[in-house]
Amino acid sequence: MPLSSLSKSLLFLHPKRPFHMANRTTPRARLRGVVFDMDGTLTVPAIDFAAMYKAVLGDDEFRRIKAENPCGIDILHHIENWNPDKQLKAYETIADYERQGLDRLQIMPGAAELCGFLDSKKMRRGLITRNVKASVDLFHQRFGMKFQPALSREFRPYKPDPAPLLHICSAWEVLPNEVMMVGDSLKDDVVCGKRAGAFTCLLDETGRYDSPDYAAVNLKPDFKVSSLAEVHSLLEEHFDLAP
Ligand SMILES: [Mg+2]
Repeated sequence: MPLSSLSKSLLFLHPKRPFHMANRTTPRARLRGVVFDMDGTLTVPAIDFAAMYKAVLGDDEFRRIKAENPCGIDILHHIENWNPDKQLKAYETIADYERQGLDRLQIMPGAAELCGFLDSKKMRRGLITRNVKASVDLFHQRFGMKFQPALSREFRPYKPDPAPLLHICSAWEVLPNEVMMVGDSLKDDVVCGKRAGAFTCLLDETGRYDSPDYAAVNLKPDFKVSSLAEVHSLLEEHFDLAP
């Protein structure tokens, strides 16, 4: 088993292990890049997803699908097989909500500092979003730092499929277990990261994943933070940051 996989499995089995002690005997996993989600992770949440899903699905269908999917609704998946007219209308509704979100686009506190830190360590930075390329372009403009590669929903299949993350790993010529996926969605970001074989870090600003709704969800990220500022210390503490 490669050393990095070994350290990863230890990390997963003992998430609460005091690493300052473990480090004396266990080599830290090597990390060569971090891939971020955009909406709600690098930007402050500005899209009312529940309202968007209701507008697309209608109240009854929304309630039915929500009850069947405790982790959250995959709206793009649900409309994939609709007839073309209905689907077009759904995409227009989604685009409306995304446009409203863009008008309110704000950079997440700590994002610039975290990216500055990654740059100082020469770590790679990538981005994967289910939003459209135009939103990523605007984000790049406002943020002033580029993520490379930055994959939007024009790249198929999108999250939670691991394909975009695996694509980034191969573009970077690194292994998936040398990369961390950071995002605010358990069902998209953490699932995508886990399927790819990467480390995963869930950003949960409000503690919503501590709610009883998620108690039965058998899906755990490797790390959970409540702000991007915490990612900085987590990386320094648990990983060998070696580009
Ligand atoms: Mg998100």
